[in-house]
Parts: sequence; structure tokens; C-alpha cells
Amino acid sequence: MQFGSDNWAGASEKVMAALVAANAGDVPAYGGDAITQRLERRLADLFEREVGVLLVATGTAANSLAVTGLIPPYGAVICHRGAHLNTDECGAPEFFGSNKLIALGGARGKVTSAGLKQLLDRRPRGVHHVVPALLSLTQSTELGSVYAVDEVAELAGLAHDKGLLVHMDGARLGNALVHTGASLAEMTWQAGVDILSFGATKGGCLLAEAIVVFDLAQVERLAFLRKRSGQLVSKHRILSAQFDAWLDGGHWLELASHANAMAGRLAEGMLRSGRAQPAFQPEANEVFAFLADADAERLHAAGAQFYDWDADILEPEEQPGRGEKLYRFVTSFRTLPEDVDRFLGLLAQG
Ligand SMILES: *Cc1c(COP(=O)(O)O)cnc(C)c1O
Repeated sequence: MQFGSDNWAGASEKVMAALVAANAGDVPAYGGDAITQRLERRLADLFEREVGVLLVATGTAANSLAVTGLIPPYGAVICHRGAHLNTDECGAPEFFGSNKLIALGGARGKVTSAGLKQLLDRRPRGVHHVVPALLSLTQSTELGSVYAVDEVAELAGLAHDKGLLVHMDGARLGNALVHTGASLAEMTWQAGVDILSFGATKGGCLLAEAIVVFDLAQVERLAFLRKRSGQLVSKHRILSAQFDAWLDGGHWLELASHANAMAGRLAEGMLRSGRAQPAFQPEANEVFAFLADADAERLHAAGAQFYDWDADILEPEEQPGRGEKLYRFVTSFRTLPEDVDRFLGLLAQG
């Protein structure tokens, strides 16, 4: 009954087998190997265009390089106030590029077009203010919701009209694609995304994160910044072999589909039990639910793993009632339906 996070799970068997196979023999370092080249071709196929690919070790590094690498130091990065960038990266984006983050509210972890418009329409005050330079959207969001392609396109359109770049934090992008049925191309560059953090770690790799940039003229700049950040992994095939096997044959989407289904099963069961109230219908692989303290304690004591979550992330109208707290449950490609059902059985016994 592990619902702590999707990065508690190891890697899928297929990814591990590819990693073991890639271990054999000596090949050029720093991405000069055949597996990395194969991955680059595969990504170009999946994105339906040429793309620049920079593999890094962590999602924090991918985000920090991606959001700061292409803007001036006085440019501001706009994101949701609950964005991983803003709350879970120990100031790394500010450290990498010395850029100021500007955080917006919005229900279910999503930036709204009204909120973005209001910010972008503020009267410019010359050198006294930072200049909005990049909009970052998390897909799927930190609250387990998903932006529809049209929503991404609308927000990206507003940003582009004011000269901003658009970044997508895709630590759980596969989960969003499974939910919407959109292709990688439709959800990213066709909707106006300029640069993407494409995460494979949570979705079934051990460690494999990519920055994907759609303007090839920016690859060289990002390559220098990656090295300078200590993020150019020398035994590069260790990252690319995982990523390549993960993408092969739609494996990553099958894994995401399973994780989403487990979150759906959990949320449905909670609703049926009447003892836990999902804050909203999950759209990806995370369930946020209100539980009575006593029930949460009882479930923790029985061995279930899940975190209590700061309800401050919710808008005022989404706040829990008295005597209830907000808890987060994350499912992964490895979550077993039996474990979900065992959890639900315990919940119902309260
Ligand atoms: C997990 C996660 C990341 C990356 O985190 P690392 O621990 O640095 O790999 C980035 N964005 C979101 C939304 C995440 O959930």
C-alpha cells in the first residue's frame, strides 16, 4: 500500500534489461554513442519533427536549465504557485539563472488565462521591474489535474503575444497524454511549447530526464549550460538506454495508463466508502483526498504509505472541512490493484 510517490518504485523490467544490455562493451562517452543517437532519432519520430535533446540526471536540473537557459537574468519565470519549480526545487531555478519566479494562483494547480492576462497586462515600469520572460506549465499538474491541449494553446498564445517563451514541466507528461489522448506533438510544440522537461524517472526509469528544445538554434547554448551545471553525464548511454527502452513500442504510455487506472480505482473506492472525499476527480496518477485524522492514523498504522499535504495549495473554495485534512496518494506503473483494494478495505472498516 505504497502511495508515497511514483519515484518510490524502481524501473520497469524492460528498462532494467536495456540498462544491463547497455552496460556491455566500451562506447564513446558524453553522448557520442549509438544508443544516444538511436534515442535522438526516436524522439524526432515521436515529436514528428527535429528536436534538440539534452539528457540530465534530475528533473530539477532539467527544469532549472530549461526555464532559465534561454532568458536574460532580469527575465521573470511565471508559474503556478504550487509548481514544483516554485515549491520543491530549493531555489534551484533562481540559483541556475538568478531569475525571479512569479507564482500565480488557480484552482486544481492550473494557471488560468485570466490570471496570466492580468499579470501580462500590468503596465511596464521600465528597469524597476523584472520582465516576464517565460511561462512554465506543469503537465500533469502537481495536483493531479491535466491541461487540455486547447488550454495549453490558449495560455501559450497569451504568453507568445507578449514575447514570452513557454516551458512545460513534463515530469508526468505520459499520464497527461493517456488522459487526453493527445499525441506528444499536439501537447507540446503544436500547442506552443518552446522547451520541455521530459521526465522518464517517475514513469518507469531509474534516472532519465531530458530537456527537449524545439528551436535547434538553442541546442548549443543549452549544451554549454548543461556542462557548466555539472549535468553532462559521462557514461551517457546509461541515461539514453533507459529512455530509449521506455519509449520503445509505447511502453511508457502503457505504464502511465496503468498508473492512471490505479488512481481512478482508488478515487472511486474512496467515494464509495464515504470515508474519504477526493478533492477532485483525478486525471492522472495522483489522488488528493480529505480524510478524518483518525482514519488517516489508522491507515498509516496498518502500513499504508501516503503523505499529508499542505491544504494551502488549494484555493479557498477547495479547502477541507473541520476535522479533515488533505492527503496525497500517488500511484505508479507498479501499483497493484490488490494493494488499492486492501487499502480500500481497511478504509471501509473504520
Ligand atoms: C518529481 C518532479 C520533478 C523532478 O524532480 P527531481 O526530484 O528533481 O527529479 C519535476 N517536476 C515535477 C512536477 C515533479 O513532480
